[in-house]
Amino acid sequence: MAICQTKVVHAQAVADNVTHLKLAVPEGCQWMTGQFARIAMPSTAEPQWRCYSIASKAGADTLDFFIARVKGGAVSPRLCNLKAGESILLDTEMNGMLIESRLQPGGRDLWLLSTGTGVAPFVAIVSDESIMNKYERVFLVHGVRNWNETQYLQHVLKLQPKLRVMASVTRDAGALIDVRIPDALESGLLEATAEAEITPQASRVMLCGNPAMVKAVRAAMRARGIVSPRNGEPGQLLAENFWL
Ligand SMILES: Cc1cc2nc3c(=O)[nH]c(=O)nc-3n(C[C@H](O)[C@H](O)[C@H](O)COP(=O)(O)OP(=O)(O)OC[C@H]3O[C@@H](n4cnc5c(N)ncnc54)[C@H](O)[C@@H]3O)c2cc1C
Repeated sequence: MAICQTKVVHAQAVADNVTHLKLAVPEGCQWMTGQFARIAMPSTAEPQWRCYSIASKAGADTLDFFIARVKGGAVSPRLCNLKAGESILLDTEMNGMLIESRLQPGGRDLWLLSTGTGVAPFVAIVSDESIMNKYERVFLVHGVRNWNETQYLQHVLKLQPKLRVMASVTRDAGALIDVRIPDALESGLLEATAEAEITPQASRVMLCGNPAMVKAVRAAMRARGIVSPRNGEPGQLLAENFWL
């Protein structure tokens, strides 16, 4: 564990309940695209550490995060109130499951299925050419309740011909996918909208966010023969839960 203090260089509310934080990268701090960091407010005697996915790729100029303000949460509302110039504690030992190189090589399509701020590691992944160059098509699916919770992606994602971004919006009208991601997968709506099929040969899949989504999609993928790498066996799926 290497705890250090760093500065917020940019803090912006990008949706009703989501703040985009950019932190200065401390000297020697390194991470892999898709990893998460532990951060804490510096003002408390006993820091309360929380994990946040890094939304910037390895080697970027800033450590970026998208933080959901959890109602009644001990830490996230305070992180969402931070302003540029304020200090924050960072553990520079990074961790995480969503490391693309852990996937079995050879897939043609990369599917990135997220809910809420679970999109953060995928923002990093689609900005990393070394990952994007491996795939012919990348489908980024963002599950949210309202349009407001996904519109900021327009400003943070670089448009690229091989990237297709699809929102699954459950409470506002107008989305092509208007049901939760697991339901869209089960009914065939997700693949019909993408005009692509998810198979063990062609597809590599990453999941991040709400544990109910992760659990349901993981089970659906297992039924198709798409599983996580385990005990040296190759796998086509990686997943990270934001809470239990
Ligand atoms: C590996 C990992 C990566 C994470 N990355 C992110 C990230 O990039 N962005 C982010 O906003 N959060 C992320 N989280 C969640 C984050 O660590 C905190 O749990 C969250 O900010 C709540 O902390 P809190 O102290 O405000 O709430 P607490 O007082 O600790 O209450 C925790 C409860 O809040 C709920 N909760 C946690 N996260 C969310 C959420 N995102 N949306 C709705 N409810 C939630 C759950 O019910 C959880 O049990 C991640 C968690 C893990 C384990």
